[in-house]
Order: sequence, then C-alpha cells, then structure tokens
Amino acid sequence: MKLVWNKGVAIVKSTPTPTPTPTPTPTPTPTSTSTVTVKPYSKYEQTKLKAYSLILSVGDEVSASNIQHLYFIGRGFPSETARIYQEQILVASKIFGTFFKKKEVVNVYMYSEFEENEIVNNVVLKSYLNELEPWIRGYKDGINTSIPMALVAQFSNNSGKPEGHTGVLASSKSDLKSMYFGSNRLMIHEYFHVIQDYHRQSKWGKTPTEDSFDILWPRTFREGSAETISLALVSPSPEKYLELHKGFIEFQRNSSPIYATLKDSDSVVEALRKLEKRSSYSQAGSPGYQLGSLLYEWVIAEFGFEAFRKIVENQNLADSFEENIRMSLGITVEQMYRGAAQHILDAFK
Ligand SMILES: [Zn+2]
Repeated sequence: MKLVWNKGVAIVKSTPTPTPTPTPTPTPTPTSTSTVTVKPYSKYEQTKLKAYSLILSVGDEVSASNIQHLYFIGRGFPSETARIYQEQILVASKIFGTFFKKKEVVNVYMYSEFEENEIVNNVVLKSYLNELEPWIRGYKDGINTSIPMALVAQFSNNSGKPEGHTGVLASSKSDLKSMYFGSNRLMIHEYFHVIQDYHRQSKWGKTPTEDSFDILWPRTFREGSAETISLALVSPSPEKYLELHKGFIEFQRNSSPIYATLKDSDSVVEALRKLEKRSSYSQAGSPGYQLGSLLYEWVIAEFGFEAFRKIVENQNLADSFEENIRMSLGITVEQMYRGAAQHILDAFK
C-alpha cells in the first residue's frame, strides 16, 4: 500500500507536470478532426491501448451495484479532491463489482490532519497509526502537504465483519493540482488492494513474515497490478492513458539504479526476479510498482482480462506465485517475464 517512494520533500519540485484533471468517464474522447497528420501508434503503444480498452470494457451498472460504499469524508479533506475520488470510485466499481461473489461493503475514508481522533478511534485505521502519525504531524506543521498517503487498503474482518476498507490521508491545504505526480490514482490504487485481499481470504493470517507474503504475492504483482488497473481507470481517454504512463516513466526513471540495468530480455527478467522479494532487494519500492505495472499491462493485452482475473482469484488456491501463474496463464513465471520483457524495454526507450 505504501505509495511514497522518496520520503521527504525533495521529490516535490521535480514533478514534471501536474496531474491531468481527471474526467472519470470511461467513454473515450473523440479524436480531434484537425488535419494534422497523426503518427501511427508504436507496437508498445498498441499493447498499452489494448490493455486499456480491455480494462475499461469490464463490468457495468449491475456489477457496480454489487458494492455498497460507506463514505467517511473528514471536514479537513480537500473537497475538490474528494469529489474527483468519488467520481473515480463510481467508474471503478463497475469492474471491481465483478470480483465480488455477492454484495459487499467497502468503507472509503478520506481524512486529513483534522481527523486524527477518527483514526485513533477506528479499530481498522488505528493499526496504521504509527505509519500515519509522522504525516499527520507534518501536515499540521505545513510539511509534505503536497504528498497524500495511503490511509488503509484491505478486505478483512478486522472490524468484526468482512468488509473492504480503502482510503487516503491528505493535507487539508492540498489539492490534486499541487499534489505530487500520481496522486490522482492513489485512491483507486488502494481500492484495488481491497479486491486482491478479497481473493486471498484462505491465506489470511498465514503469511506472518515479509518473505512468506512475497512468495505468494511478489511486490510486482501486489503493487504492479494495482498500478495497471488504477492508471487505466483514472484515465479519461486513451491519449490521457499514454500521457499518464509517459509521465510516470519520466518521473521514476532516475529514482533507482535498477532502471539503468534494463538492456535486453535477460536483464529485464533478472530485474523482475530481484524485485520479487523485498528482503533481498531493499530498493524494491518504485521499480516494483513501475515494472509490475508494465508486466500486467502486457499480460492483460496478451492473455485478456479474464486471464488476469484468474491470477487475482487463484490467490486463494495457489501455494506460491509460481503455481498461480501456471494455473492462471498456463505458463511459468519465467516465461511470463520473458514474454513481457520487450514491452518493458520499450517503455524506457
Ligand atoms: Zn499499494
């Protein structure tokens, strides 16, 4: 759920472009009718757009009604950001509803530094308090106000009944235009973890260590696929989707030495292997998100959305990620990495 890769204020100034104002309608904007010659899409872009359209074509109003949202919006949470996040949730619930077997409750929290008491008094949220407190204190002191934080992301029975919990903590003085690049997709990213968790209920409590967790759900899957889905769902048009991805590559490419090692298929496979376990690669943050996002974009374009759905749903059945990929895609993890390698290389050209 962690979404801040470079803790501290330094990254704020280097933000290349402000997040595009999201218009969360799944209908693609009609292309311009001007006479300017349009460059044909590259193979890389075609793969991206195929995944984008496959993701947006899943679900409808009926599946959306499979989710009951309970909103908890603090008085300090920036109101325009709350409105945009709510619109995104309406779009996302069509696809997310298809992952639930029956109607489920999802609690959505949008809190600021004013809602510390609400966090302390919430049985689910208070378990994140240690992580959140420095940020709450910072927001109060006017520090890191442009960086919103994941507040919660889980489907659990921690509240006494099995329910989803997703949320964002943001400074009362912020808005999406001034927030760091990518804040736009934060809520939907966290929400996808709720969907992932719903399908690993048989494993709840059975992965006490970081390593045992990563063997089942490597960061490139856990975080990467949450990126694939959220970036598509918050992009109002195919062009905006390409733009958003491009922005992310530029934003991240100098943040980790691992990006510079991506020279050929072998090195991509090696990087993906490295990123599987947080304990063996301490800098698994940003590249795990970024390369994972490209990996599952390729999987969706190549195998279709229903194959990707199997990976999510088979979390309950498989005893390792290797087993899951064999069950879901009929190939090995190695073959999946190798298949996606060129797509990942093309992103960094
Ligand atoms: Zn996450």
